[in-house]
Amino acid sequence: MIDLHCHLLPGVDDGARTLDDSLAMAQQAVAEGISHILVTPHHKNGKYLNPKEAVMEATAALQAELDSRGIGLTLFPGQEVRINGEILNDIENGDILFIDDEEHYLLIEFPTMSIPHYTESLFFKLRQKGITPVIVHPERNQAVIDDPNILLPFIERGALAQVTASSYVGAFGKEIAKLSNQLIEANLVHILASDAHNTRGRGFHFRKAFAKLEAEFGPEKVAYFKQNAKDLFNGDVVHTEDPSEVYQKKKRFRLFGK
Ligand code: FE
Repeated sequence: MIDLHCHLLPGVDDGARTLDDSLAMAQQAVAEGISHILVTPHHKNGKYLNPKEAVMEATAALQAELDSRGIGLTLFPGQEVRINGEILNDIENGDILFIDDEEHYLLIEFPTMSIPHYTESLFFKLRQKGITPVIVHPERNQAVIDDPNILLPFIERGALAQVTASSYVGAFGKEIAKLSNQLIEANLVHILASDAHNTRGRGFHFRKAFAKLEAEFGPEKVAYFKQNAKDLFNGDVVHTEDPSEVYQKKKRFRLFGK
């Protein structure tokens, strides 16, 4: 299996701190059935920069450590790009790592509390360049938590989204797990990835998540998510299911006064 979102590189962000941490995570990934990982350190999230060249070097160095220990995992360099006003310039200058070699798919992270007002126009400009944004873990964004259907227009206009395995299995609590389920059901997310930061609370959770996916949505959904991850990685067209609104019980307002 392939994992398209993972903080495996040692000492570059809030993921693995040391080489030993990275190796322990790598072993856990293999035990979870993962064979390929796109390593995606935070990029320009206000705390971490992780420029392209540094990520490529660190990925090659970690790959050498894995190879020398016979850990059967193949790494590719990537970035989890926090949405920011410089993205188009940075792409123009060749400073951004995409999911795929063809540079069609880009992992985009929203800030925790909101979706910036310029997102719609940025996504439009990206699509004009043949780039599809892949929104990471929308289920952990406060604006989506408050109203999951805020995601729908972005998906209808061609953006994709990644739900995090640990969210879906409940590592961030029942509400986030429920929202993850709702987003999957409404076809508002297209792949499952680990966003693993360590081997504990924020580990891979792949087996559990895919088992839950199969139990709740059937083997077709598992095959769909796995195929989508492959298509993204290969830069191929992703064949998505039509998105719909998340059904929410309407809060009943008072019709009648006293
Ligand atoms: Fe992440």
